[in-house]
Amino acid sequence: MTKQPIILAEDIHKWYGKFHALRGVNLTVNRGEVVVLMGPSGSGKSTFIRTFNGLEEYQQGRIEIDGIALTDDLRNVETIRREIGMVFQQFNLFPHLSVLQNITLAPVWVRKWTKVKAEEVAMQLLERVGILEQAQKYPGQLSGGQQQRVAIARALAMQPKIMLFDEPTSALDPEMVREVLDVIQTLAADGMTMVVVSHEVGFARKVADRVILMDGGMIVEEASPTAFFQNPQQERTRKFLSQIL
Ligand code: ADP
Repeated sequence: MTKQPIILAEDIHKWYGKFHALRGVNLTVNRGEVVVLMGPSGSGKSTFIRTFNGLEEYQQGRIEIDGIALTDDLRNVETIRREIGMVFQQFNLFPHLSVLQNITLAPVWVRKWTKVKAEEVAMQLLERVGILEQAQKYPGQLSGGQQQRVAIARALAMQPKIMLFDEPTSALDPEMVREVLDVIQTLAADGMTMVVVSHEVGFARKVADRVILMDGGMIVEEASPTAFFQNPQQERTRKFLSQIL
C-alpha cells in the first residue's frame, strides 16, 4: 500500500505586501512522521507551518490535510483546524483560567463534550505531560516549562491528528527545555505526526525522521538527521550548522 500523505503542501507562495515570504515551498509529511524545520530567523518557517491550518493565508499553491483541501470553504478550514494542534513559543494560555479550565475550554465549546468528560480527558493528559498536581493552579503560578506542558495538553485535548510546534522551547529557561522536549519525544514515540520548528540539534537527531533547512522562504535542504548533520550537501546548510553547533 502506498503511504497517503497527511500533510501535502505544494508550491506555496506567500507575500506580505510586496515581500515574497514563501517562494514555492513543497512539503509532504506522511502519517506518523516527525519533521524538524530549521533555518535562520525570518526564513519563513513560522509563516509556512501556519499556512497548514489557515492561520496564514497564501496566494499560490495547494495544501491538503488528511485528504481535505484547504480552500476558502469555511467548513474545510474548520475541519482542518480541528485536526491540527498547535503549540507556540509563547504559551498563549488564558491567564484568568485554571490549568484545567484552559484544557477543557475548547473540547466543551467546540467538541461539545460534557464538562465531566472534558475534565476526565484533561486529567489524563496532565498526567501524560507530568503535571497532574498542577490542575487547579493558574498559569502565572507555574514555571515556563510547566506552562508549555499545559499548552501541549491543551492542544492534545482536541485529539488532533497532527501537532505543529513553533519553537516550543525558545522562550524557556535552559533548565526547562529538556522537560518539554521529553514530552514532545513521547508524542513522537506514540506515533503522532509532527512538524517541529526547533534548533535543538540533540532533539532533532533523536526524534526527527527528516530535518529541513529553510532560508529566504525556500527549502534549501531536506535529509535524514544523520545525513543532515553529518554530511550536509548545501553550503548554506554547512554555514547554518556551523552557527548553531
Ligand atoms: P521564521 O519563522 O523563519 O523566523 P517568519 O515566518 O516569522 O520567519 O517570517 C518570514 C518573513 O516574513 C520575515 O522576513 C518576516 O519579517 C516576514 N513577516 C512575518 N510576518 C509578517 C507580517 N505579519 N507582515 C509582514 N511581514 C511579515
